[in-house]
Amino acid sequence: MTPRHHNPGLPITLKFPQETINAFSIAALSTYAYVPEMNVAFDMGDCLMDAVPIQRVFISHGHGDHTRCLLRHVSLRRLLGMDPAEYYIPRETLEGFRAISAAWQKMEYHKGRKEHKEPNFIPLDAGNEVTLNRQLVAQAFGVTHTMPSLGYTLFELRKKLKPEYHGTESLELARLRREGVEFEDEFRVPRLTFIGDSTIETLYRERHIGQSHILFLELTFLMEDERELARRRGHTHLDDLLEFLQQCPDALQNEHIILKHFSMRYTRRQIFSILKARLPADFLARVHILA
Ligand SMILES: [Zn+2]
Ligand SMILES: [Zn+2]
Repeated sequence: MTPRHHNPGLPITLKFPQETINAFSIAALSTYAYVPEMNVAFDMGDCLMDAVPIQRVFISHGHGDHTRCLLRHVSLRRLLGMDPAEYYIPRETLEGFRAISAAWQKMEYHKGRKEHKEPNFIPLDAGNEVTLNRQLVAQAFGVTHTMPSLGYTLFELRKKLKPEYHGTESLELARLRREGVEFEDEFRVPRLTFIGDSTIETLYRERHIGQSHILFLELTFLMEDERELARRRGHTHLDDLLEFLQQCPDALQNEHIILKHFSMRYTRRQIFSILKARLPADFLARVHILA
């Protein structure tokens, strides 16, 4: 029988104070993460019915285990009469997505069928920002893998009184607001960072990652003799992560670290026992294992 952690129809649910995450991620099989409170999903290796109402989908890279069900998301929303969603993709994948979408259109063609509009593909480069609503901004950053790949950090926008207005009565502030006086400074709180497939290099380069409340991190390979394999396939090996934690002990300040994308070759028991034995205790205390 297929082990439970190899069934993409059975995501793991993580409940945090501000958000719920439904996610599944096993290498080569499927990766997706839905965050309904933020109305966002990351990757679309599978598209469960829970994903259908989500309006913003961020794709990390073109590998099939991260993208295969994007068009299913498009067509289920259409079928259910929902507005088209937005699909944020690395610019280099645009051509491929367009071609697949056109091929599918052709496959389903029959006389009298009306042409569907192309899905809303929004190509992004590293450094691009997307405003999701008044409180939330997404920023794309470069990720090192075997192909062009983006990670995404979602920032919550907050405001605080400028120091010179500390202690001002609320009626007075209301008056200032009416007059259009800027008495607040805006600042950003990094809520969540999603990295698809990646080598450890991304962590050394993109230091802001360590400040997010929630961090999705790939950890594909765990066994001693697989380090070279990990490097070749553009993935992270447990020894790479341990080395990083030793060299940069204060880099990852995240409250929750979601480890994902384990190789299909391991059992759940192996994954848990190796991680428990080898990860430092203060790191392990913040870890959630997607297996
Ligand atoms: Zn993958
Ligand atoms: Zn990949």
